[in-house]
Amino acid sequence: MSANEHVTSLLLVVAEAGYPSPMSLVRFLLAAALCPLALSAQRAPDSLRVPILVYHNIQSKAEARGIRAPDLTMRPEVFAAQMQYLKDRKIPVVSFIALLDALEGKGKVPPGAVVLTFDDGRLNQYQSAYPVLRKHGFTATFFPFTHAMNKNPKYFTWAQLEEMQKAGMTIGSHTSLHERVDRMKGDKMHAEISGSRELLMSKLGKAAGELFSYPFGVLAPQGDSAVRAAGYRAARAYTGGAWNNWQLRWRLRAVPVTEDMKRFTAMVDPGAPPS
Ligand SMILES: [Zn+2]
Repeated sequence: MSANEHVTSLLLVVAEAGYPSPMSLVRFLLAAALCPLALSAQRAPDSLRVPILVYHNIQSKAEARGIRAPDLTMRPEVFAAQMQYLKDRKIPVVSFIALLDALEGKGKVPPGAVVLTFDDGRLNQYQSAYPVLRKHGFTATFFPFTHAMNKNPKYFTWAQLEEMQKAGMTIGSHTSLHERVDRMKGDKMHAEISGSRELLMSKLGKAAGELFSYPFGVLAPQGDSAVRAAGYRAARAYTGGAWNNWQLRWRLRAVPVTEDMKRFTAMVDPGAPPS
């Protein structure tokens, strides 16, 4: 509940009691005074609604053969339509770092902003998402898992990552081997979380060492600790919705995107009239 909603609910309590008697007004003022949320400043927990959207494969139905989960693959024309929607409705696309700055209280993001992210570093993102992002002047964050780079032709090359970075994209880590953080410890955890960060930074510079996203969206306390110890600034979960705050920075909530346009518009444009 936001501070404003809290005040509203307190007022409703008073309103439902009929015309406020002096006593109910006293009770309301007392409740408001006792409730720090109601009267405190804007930066309450969950104070920023900036959906962090997560995409995976952007590919044709034929290329997606075998992938059933609706959040793991999207046709290029649907992705293009979603980006066009953001453009047409003037929905601000901000960088992940800009959102972090705002959550930390070091900056601001425009109302209604969204953040775009891509997991896994698949080549189809370079082929079918990156050109659309460039066309609209949008920025996004890509989370490849580093073991696949320059080895598996279905994934980015380092040269492609560098090119995207130079064009204004952010690169972050998704571990080295794409493994669950709840099943790792010790040297293995270090290699996956710190090792992937060091490799990214050695290839792409310091800017590639800021952000992490959890493979399979799996969260675990030891994952938070390892990400924090490795020197990342924040990490993204996979689900949880549109609201975030600075306390959540080791497991920021996110929104997996599907081809469902109604669901998409409700998330990125909650004020729009239903189509
Ligand atoms: Zn992944």
